[in-house]
Amino acid sequence: MERVYNFAAGPATMPEEALRTAANEMLNYGGSGMSVMEMSHRGKAYQAIFDETVGLIRELLQVPDNYKVLLLQGGATGQFAAVPLNLMNGSGSADYIDSGNFAHGALVEAGKYGKVNVVASSREENYAGIPQWDEAAFDPKADYFYITTNNTIYGTRYSTLPNTGSVPLVADASSNILSEVYDMSRFGVMYAGAQKNIGPAGVTLVVVREDLLGKARPSTPKIMDWTKMAEAGSMLNTPPTYAIYMCGLCLKWLKKQGGVAAMEKRNIEKAQILYDLLDDSSLFKGVAQPASRSRMNVTFRTGDEELDALFVKEATAKGLCSLKGHRAAGGMRASIYNAMPVEGVQALANFMKDFEARHK
Ligand SMILES: *Cc1c(COP(=O)(O)O)cnc(C)c1O
Repeated sequence: MERVYNFAAGPATMPEEALRTAANEMLNYGGSGMSVMEMSHRGKAYQAIFDETVGLIRELLQVPDNYKVLLLQGGATGQFAAVPLNLMNGSGSADYIDSGNFAHGALVEAGKYGKVNVVASSREENYAGIPQWDEAAFDPKADYFYITTNNTIYGTRYSTLPNTGSVPLVADASSNILSEVYDMSRFGVMYAGAQKNIGPAGVTLVVVREDLLGKARPSTPKIMDWTKMAEAGSMLNTPPTYAIYMCGLCLKWLKKQGGVAAMEKRNIEKAQILYDLLDDSSLFKGVAQPASRSRMNVTFRTGDEELDALFVKEATAKGLCSLKGHRAAGGMRASIYNAMPVEGVQALANFMKDFEARHK
């Protein structure tokens, strides 16, 4: 069977080149006579794969020297708890912006460990945009300030970052990490589940500034303790060895494409194809407020649920897959991460025009 264009939100499409390399190396990695899956995580061969992957992350994200790069498990959802466990130990209070379901899940989780101050929210508007904030509402004594840089379900993205002064900015960047250039020094912590824009599910990347280590509350499970994990080179226990190897293959591909800046340019072009179409369409309507539009997740609908369902069904038959919106948002969502080629976006746009012509 031919490969389809997969618009899934995560796990998501991956570079074909990475998948092919993995297939070629499946039974015998680099002359070792075994699969990467079968290697000891403490062995030399695996350590080299791990170190290369971390090195690529440092290079591609331009991580400054005073930050640690950790490869953990438990997903982004695990970090909803790890963030307060590691940081909410000074004033015991943190500022959160509630910009989507995952942001909301994170603040509910943090509320188990301390005081959560919601400084801005678009929950009442069904998260149609990034909420406006007023710096006067920020708590200068907060242990950290939390945002979700791209809201995967609703298709919204911060175009500017809040200025939090000396309060460390913590970002869940699960769905837009590596898709645009960020000045990492603006963040105290940036983390992401891998399964959207890094590699396969099973790895969680945490980039943390060193001065934020050593603050975990004593009851923190060691597996969630960034300091202990940093000291152990992310190997307090067995890491997700194969998933990390796959991330490495995807990152090598990304580097060959020209790195994050080149990707950002391509991602802007890809998103523009769909937003231009939506703005011109008399059938499809973009869901996210224009000023908050995501470059990674494009949400749209016809306004008629049956027609939405027909669209998804017909698109699937044409090899344009996984376009159904998240159950919390409805409608359609095209996730167009780094590994989605411009040809896939163009094919979707052509199909949308064709569908519109038949359903005016
Ligand atoms: C997908 C996603 C999550 C959840 O990730 P898991 O790895 O499944 O826990 C959290 N935050 C954002 C922004 C996401 O896109």
